[in-house]
Amino acid sequence: MEAKTEDATPQPAQGGWDTFRKALPRVFSKRCPQCGDGALFARRYSLHRDCSNCGLVYRREQGSMTGSMYLSAAVTEIFAAGVALGLFFLTDLTLTAMLAIGFALVIAFCAWFLPHSKAIWVAVEYATDVGNDEDWVDPR
Ligand SMILES: [Zn+2]
Repeated sequence: MEAKTEDATPQPAQGGWDTFRKALPRVFSKRCPQCGDGALFARRYSLHRDCSNCGLVYRREQGSMTGSMYLSAAVTEIFAAGVALGLFFLTDLTLTAMLAIGFALVIAFCAWFLPHSKAIWVAVEYATDVGNDEDWVDPR
């Protein structure tokens, strides 16, 4: 077994949660979680491969955005449940009208939330990588 070598200059302790809280406003403004300058998205639903400013790779491997799909599905299901309950208990609409309105609201919410879900997931992966002290991250 090989012994780990210690870095001569101590780095400030950075936990994943602290990094996530710092990265979240950056990704909500569609900026790189690491530097806050580079654009996160090429188009509304399409991430850039990496940051044009600091070089952080947003999608390092196949399937790296699976977590954003789960996040999007979970949040959309909670929203859909709220819409269904709201329409049922707060309106006197027919079932057909409730389904039509509810379906439209849920689809619109899903389309609105998907890029946010991807951005949040980029921040989650970045914070995890910082917490794991991966060598491709350079927290700023
Ligand atoms: Zn960057």
